Amino acid sequence: MPAAPRTPEKPAQRPKRSRYGSDFKKMASRKLLGQMQGLRNWCTTPSNKISPDGNGSKMSICSLKTYRSNEVLVYLYFGFLHREKGRDAVKLQLRDVTVQGCQAYMEHLRACGGKANYVANVGKVLARVMHYMDCTAGTRKPKTETHAPQKVASLARQMKVAMLRQDVDHDGLALPDVRALQLFYSKLEESAMGMLKVVIRETKAIRKMPNEPQALLELALNVLSADSLTREQAWLLQAAALMCLAGGRGLPPLRSSALSLLKCNKAAQSRCTNTDCQDPSCSGNRVVHEIGPAGKKVARILLPHHKTYLGGKGGNAHRFNVALRGVHALLLWCVEKYARPALLGCKEDTQGFLFLTKTGKAFQPSNFAPWFHGLVEEYGEGLLGNVCPQQIRHIWVRFLRQKEEQDSQHMQLMSRNGSGGITLAGGASIMGNSEETCLKRYDVAGRREIAQRFADEAATLYAQLLGEGQHMLKQGLLI
Ligand SMILES: [Zn+2]
Repeated sequence: MPAAPRTPEKPAQRPKRSRYGSDFKKMASRKLLGQMQGLRNWCTTPSNKISPDGNGSKMSICSLKTYRSNEVLVYLYFGFLHREKGRDAVKLQLRDVTVQGCQAYMEHLRACGGKANYVANVGKVLARVMHYMDCTAGTRKPKTETHAPQKVASLARQMKVAMLRQDVDHDGLALPDVRALQLFYSKLEESAMGMLKVVIRETKAIRKMPNEPQALLELALNVLSADSLTREQAWLLQAAALMCLAGGRGLPPLRSSALSLLKCNKAAQSRCTNTDCQDPSCSGNRVVHEIGPAGKKVARILLPHHKTYLGGKGGNAHRFNVALRGVHALLLWCVEKYARPALLGCKEDTQGFLFLTKTGKAFQPSNFAPWFHGLVEEYGEGLLGNVCPQQIRHIWVRFLRQKEEQDSQHMQLMSRNGSGGITLAGGASIMGNSEETCLKRYDVAGRREIAQRFADEAATLYAQLLGEGQHMLKQGLLI
């Protein structure tokens, strides 16, 4: 009788050390799972309850999607209690979400190098869990912890502020002037135009070459063929066009994440390639060529994925649709017609992205910084110092704020309207922020300036108020 083949013995399975997150969920007690189900219903069903922010609302506290990501954080907290604090996993319940525990967990995350926003969000979610227990516990409320959700929420806020202060010290931030940026652009543009002139002269025997960039680009669009440019020439032309969009030339600086997904006119109708996109009719970020009034060429920039738009609520606020005219539009037309084919080379054009690397791949957000530093070295030496592309947004917001202040002073002095279009509101909406966020996020030095000016002028104001007060007192107007 042949012996049965021996199956190799499995090595004894070591108990896994990690008991965090969804891993903890597997060993959670039935009771805790039931409580979590209750929390889920409470958070996601619309009813007339008081939200943790103190506003009575008929809305649900959060969407199911948000709840799911928050739920993970709660299980992570229990995992922490189990593993780091030695608590018995089977006995843990929602009432073990305590102020002390939350504090310990947040400190733990901070020590592990967690980001300020993440730590603060954990605190917010745990405070919400406590709020849920307060709302549903009825008379079984534990006496020891009054105002527990408020305590944790405020702890989270304080921690975030302290951590952010640690992360970035804005005092050392010295940004170049917006005018230096303009000089840099004009050098780059000049170089691109010079290159086009040479190329046109080589192809066509044109004696009189226009000096105006606009006329020159129009001429190029008429006389050149798709294979006119070398890879290097194409790279330069693309740099000039890309700088329009990324560097605040034609528009306030757009995000590199939005620009790298920008499709060319030829591919504009194809299906959106953003993996987060939930809208089946979406065509993605794109540049569409149009003919405007009087036969002028227009490049319309359409950005449904401008920021973090996922097709959910509030998404439309971030949709963005602006027409570029003049030099900037022509540059974008030229890039599609001449630079793309040269950069693409013999590669197949599968995705239809407008901006490409030298090897014909999509221009990724990670390509921006090295690309920009190369340009600054060549055209902005001595003008821009060590600026990174993200800082261009800061430069622009500071400029718009200063301009707005000047305009309002002019309006008071001369009682006339300011110069209209270039406003902080306009710039902010293109950058995908509210004016307030825009200032808060990008113009940190500005707030210090405003505060300083207030302090400087306060004495004058108080003297004036005192004088007025004395006058009114004489008139018997003050009682
Ligand atoms: Zn989309």
